[in-house]
Amino acid sequence: MAFDLVIKNGEIVTAQGVYRADVGVRGERIAAIGESLQGRREIAAAGKYVTPGAVDVHVHLEMPIGDIASTDDFYTGTRAAAFGGTTTIIDFVEPEPEETLLEALASRRACADDKVVIDYGLHMTLGPAEIPKLDQVAAAYAAGCASFKLYMAYDFRLNDGEMLQALTAVHNTNGLPIVHAENWDVITMLIAENVGNGRTTPHYHPRSRPAKMEGEAAGRIINLAEFVGTRLYVFHVSCGETVDRIATARQRGLPIYGETCPQYLLLDWSLYDRPGVLGALPVCSPPIRAKEEQARLWQALSRNHLQAVSTDHCPFTMAEKERGLGDYSQIPGGVPSIEVRFTAVYSAGVRAGHLSLPQWVDVCCTTPARLFGLPRKGQIAVGYDADLVIFDPEREMHVSPKTLHETAGWTLYEGMTLHGWPEMTISHGQVIVEDGELVVGMGNGRFLRRGFGKM
Ligand SMILES: [Zn+2]
Repeated sequence: MAFDLVIKNGEIVTAQGVYRADVGVRGERIAAIGESLQGRREIAAAGKYVTPGAVDVHVHLEMPIGDIASTDDFYTGTRAAAFGGTTTIIDFVEPEPEETLLEALASRRACADDKVVIDYGLHMTLGPAEIPKLDQVAAAYAAGCASFKLYMAYDFRLNDGEMLQALTAVHNTNGLPIVHAENWDVITMLIAENVGNGRTTPHYHPRSRPAKMEGEAAGRIINLAEFVGTRLYVFHVSCGETVDRIATARQRGLPIYGETCPQYLLLDWSLYDRPGVLGALPVCSPPIRAKEEQARLWQALSRNHLQAVSTDHCPFTMAEKERGLGDYSQIPGGVPSIEVRFTAVYSAGVRAGHLSLPQWVDVCCTTPARLFGLPRKGQIAVGYDADLVIFDPEREMHVSPKTLHETAGWTLYEGMTLHGWPEMTISHGQVIVEDGELVVGMGNGRFLRRGFGKM
């Protein structure tokens, strides 16, 4: 019996290995992997890689900061993701103080459901105003928010006592705590010292958020997680100091996990010394570090000290970044990479010899799906969602904001030539990007109710 769709003769890349076969799709699922499969539609993929749709577990679309919001909304952001081969994202719910967690989830879904072109999930943020609401954590988990964001920085930050309460509540419901680890007291002191002495340019941004103190904060939250007995996932690891804390904990058998992002793997802090607004664009937190850190991060991925690469995609326009030129601490933080991530990790990771092909798929697709409770995502196997990418490893990608679909109007990867690009993106059995065009409309994606992530 013919399949609805067959991808013929591609090199299938999974986290387990690489082999040539046809992939048969029936309805929304992968129905067969074999030879000489026949379909109503057949797509030739000889010489191409066939990978699972990529999974980006850390994005901020239309995220409000004061009177502005990150530039990509749930439509333009998921569209850019789809062009780059990403078929699942996880964004955030940030409750208002007066809202219940479920009300906040409903209003975030109301922003997203009609706009997304790929599937999406949501993390629940627990700030100080949520400490009295910790009895609602179980309801949020049951509604599909199975992971909980805890900050050690910004107004969202929890002190150690609040952190203890939040970690305990999340652990007791089987949720996964995810953390932004930085030492806020040290950061605010260094910013005050720099700005007070006229050191106001973005050059001082990474120097106000030292790698050593990111490591210190990661070590502290890992100690708290161990005391509570919970799992923990550390967001946006930017440096070897933090890798060391995670690796040591894992060697002791603790269920501690970490991710890094393309900006830490491919870029370095000399970008902050570019003139004018160009130096403000790379402001994000943790900051982009000295070049030596890149090798530490690639090595951490290849040795499974870090398990995933996500983007922390959260761009602002040049005009919004410009507002902080007289005081770097006022520059809205966040950089884009939702579209280039999968290619960037292939190009700078696999082609440069840091990662194998299966490791590329593992850190961009398979392990993030597993850790974040998406049992039908991130893998090419019978029964999984037919979320697939046909990836041309030889295509050269000259990165420019003009060729990307992100809406910030700038990219830190401008001028780079990256190797490999998705030729086609498929989401639950439906081709969504083909011949450089998005061929589905807004609202094609679905909210994913996530459950317990397997470690
Ligand atoms: Zn983030």
